[in-house]
Amino acid sequence: MTLDSTHQADLRSWVVSANTSETEFPIQNLPFGRFRPAGSMAPWRVGVAIGDQVLDLHQALSAVVWPADIASLLQPLAAGNLNAFMALGRGASRTLRAALSKALSQGSAQETALAPCLLPQTATEMTVPCAIGDYTDFYTGIHHATTVGKLFRPDNPLLPNYKWVPIGYHGRASSIVASGHPIRRPQGQTKGSADTPTVGPSQRLDYELELAFFIGAGNPLGEPVPMAQAEEHLFGVALFNDWSARDIQPWEYQPLGPFLAKNFASTVSPWVVTMEALAPFRSAFTRPADDPQPLPYLDSPANRASGQLDITLQVWLQTAAMQAAGEPGVCLSTSLVRDAAYWTAGQLVAHHTISGCNLQPGDLLGSGTLSGPLPTQTGSMLELSMGGKQPLTLPNGETRSFLADGDTLTLRGWCERPGFRRIGLGTCAGTVVPARLL
Ligand code: CA
Repeated sequence: MTLDSTHQADLRSWVVSANTSETEFPIQNLPFGRFRPAGSMAPWRVGVAIGDQVLDLHQALSAVVWPADIASLLQPLAAGNLNAFMALGRGASRTLRAALSKALSQGSAQETALAPCLLPQTATEMTVPCAIGDYTDFYTGIHHATTVGKLFRPDNPLLPNYKWVPIGYHGRASSIVASGHPIRRPQGQTKGSADTPTVGPSQRLDYELELAFFIGAGNPLGEPVPMAQAEEHLFGVALFNDWSARDIQPWEYQPLGPFLAKNFASTVSPWVVTMEALAPFRSAFTRPADDPQPLPYLDSPANRASGQLDITLQVWLQTAAMQAAGEPGVCLSTSLVRDAAYWTAGQLVAHHTISGCNLQPGDLLGSGTLSGPLPTQTGSMLELSMGGKQPLTLPNGETRSFLADGDTLTLRGWCERPGFRRIGLGTCAGTVVPARLL
């Protein structure tokens, strides 16, 4: 975990909005995303968020005479191809971060040339940050796994493999959408107490508070990534809502796992915060004394020292009635990644590849629902309403066991630590729209 001049708390930018205390995107952050002018059909461009602006890397490449190594790193980005840059690995990420930090710093000689390459974020629309070839969903939230397990198996909530294997399954990449995209209520088969199932709109639509880990450099097929190098294959982190149909899943999931209950939509926040930006916000990976220690392929001194991410997560719900009344919404939960995640992102990479499976630049690993140990820290409606048995009463008197049409669910996340500038992950929002009936 290398800290350098790009992390200095007193570093300020000539982009004035990046120096405000409330911004999620100070010069210490510099996340990547894909944008275009709002309402246009222009090709997606890669940009870096700085304050309330986007630095357009297509324009930035030609606006400044960059050193040759920086110009060559900017080339794929200027062409709108974040995946090609991600493929170059952490060294490229570190080098470009240093150059962009310098160029955007107060007193930079490039200010005059780069100022016309800025676009207000409010004038843009965003898409998913990169082409996502494959999506794998893990289940690292041990409190979530325990609470949900209890609903089905009160005496034996955690299955015996949980503390040995980072549990995961292969998800669906084609239905991952960027924040703001409407979420159509899915239909499918459900089976209650009657003898035969019925088909119709899900009545138990839920969200899952997760992180998305984006893969940078890939690994060749057949070549596992050792734990000591696992983080070199991680590009960065975004917020991730893995929408779930809780009534479709119980009927379909045996013996091969969830299918339609999970494949209709997942929402990702548009800005990928790089592992470099997260360097000041790391903490130790620990195991309770009476839990099994990780097998050697999931263990390393660096992972024990600083494998966990120090990110605070929040879930907000705004119902249609709240929106109509001009009310901003209600915070449903706040949780800490380091309290929630039983496995680190590095361990997920090492586990995913131990079989020889090849990860590719832009692949997305979902963390699983990151609920903390307390009821106020739960990352799904399933947990908040105890499987639908205890509906929540919202401040305006409405109740919810699961999500209703018109509900807007928003995830937020940020990192803060004394001595460092606070950075944010932005927002990951989606509004539920009625099912399209057959
Ligand atoms: Ca999930």
